[in-house]
Amino acid sequence: ILGFTLHAARETQTLKGASQMFDSYRTDLQGYITKTASKNKKMTAEEVKQALTFKNGAFPEGTPKETIVEEQMKFHREVLSKKIDEPKGMKLVHKQDGDTSYELANATLLSLVRNSELEGIVSSIRQLEETWNWRYNYPFTFINDEEFTPEFKKRVEEVCSGKVYYEIIPKSIWEKPANIDPVLYKNGIAKLTANKVNYASLESYHNMCRFNSGWFYRLEGLKKFKYYWRVEPNVNFFCKVDYDVFKFMRDNELTYGFTVSLYDEPLTIETLWKTTVDFCLAHPEYVHPNGAFKWLTENQQNPHNTNGAGGYSTCHFWSNFEIADMDFYRGEAYSKWFDALEAAGGFYYERWGDAPVHSVGVGLFEDKSKVWWFRDIGYHHSPYENSPNSDKCSTDHEPGYFAPPDVYDQNCLPNWIKYSMTEKQLNMY
Ligand code: GDP
Ligand code: MN
Repeated sequence: ILGFTLHAARETQTLKGASQMFDSYRTDLQGYITKTASKNKKMTAEEVKQALTFKNGAFPEGTPKETIVEEQMKFHREVLSKKIDEPKGMKLVHKQDGDTSYELANATLLSLVRNSELEGIVSSIRQLEETWNWRYNYPFTFINDEEFTPEFKKRVEEVCSGKVYYEIIPKSIWEKPANIDPVLYKNGIAKLTANKVNYASLESYHNMCRFNSGWFYRLEGLKKFKYYWRVEPNVNFFCKVDYDVFKFMRDNELTYGFTVSLYDEPLTIETLWKTTVDFCLAHPEYVHPNGAFKWLTENQQNPHNTNGAGGYSTCHFWSNFEIADMDFYRGEAYSKWFDALEAAGGFYYERWGDAPVHSVGVGLFEDKSKVWWFRDIGYHHSPYENSPNSDKCSTDHEPGYFAPPDVYDQNCLPNWIKYSMTEKQLNMY
């Protein structure tokens, strides 16, 4: 800037001009410093407390739940009824047909999967290849707590268009850690089981949630990658995507991408929020001033959830689909917080899921403008889906379809749109 100013001043040929220019440069610089400082300003514990107190909800106090759910779904359908194509006003890279020197972003498709789920994962891969990866041939990394069978490897290699990697999780990472108290664990499971919480007594499910929450990105074979796209068995991808999704994340400096947002069962995360708030009050400097606070603390649509989870709405990005930057998890804020979660033991005493853990972490420690709702990626994992209105989609469901009516109240996407997206972001499709 200074170079340009002096150059411009020289062109005016007057000293006065130069000094005026310099004054205006100094004013600009001052403005720039102030703006940058406020953007990077650390929050105090008091500000964090305030930010995590929900106020000014979208609905007047006392609005009946049926009305809220009905209006939220109406809003959902209205937003999704808009005819869309690719995102607008964002950096997009398209690989041209026949381009043999195309360089991939530093990224992998990723699946933690069991040998017994071979048919299901082949089905998911086929659809992701047909709608997107056939053009890019990004590599696929398969992760398992046991060796993959030769049959598994043969079949997935037949359907993956890119390189295939296998990664076996060391027992020291996968299994219940030594700090878990057996009696507290037993009692916790008994409570969840009595309340009919799914998978409560399945230890491997607890291992899986903990692994996906804070360990997968530390595996040897994943250290070399920055971005991942998580793929589960038996999901559906039903819209064609032409641009390079990983470069979209990279070039637009996005941290986390999702398709579906839901509420969670509060019994599985009774103390996740309290543990987190304690951490944040002790380390307010990690909390991002532009976090997704309202989405995380909303208490109008399912007050039972927010109360049951101690002030956390239970809203989360449904993590069976996620496209994200692992360097965020590897960073100081998320790592320190994850250590606190490990110390609290809730992956075993309760059944903390990787979806609420990723979502709370992203929602608190990242700028919410770095989270992207992939409206254009048609996605289904029973019973929920993201169903765009686009000529690139092929599905029997109407645009805006979400799920069967009895679970409409589980939809938290309308809150994400209302509380976390700007008008500008909403108009980018
Ligand atoms: P749900 O979606 O919560 O019902 O859970 P899933 O059964 O779909 O499990 C989530 C993901 O973790 C899927 O990709 C599973 O293949 C994977 N998964 C769950 N448990 C295990 C396990 O014990 N071993 C391995 N290797 N993968 C698992
Ligand atoms: Mn699943």
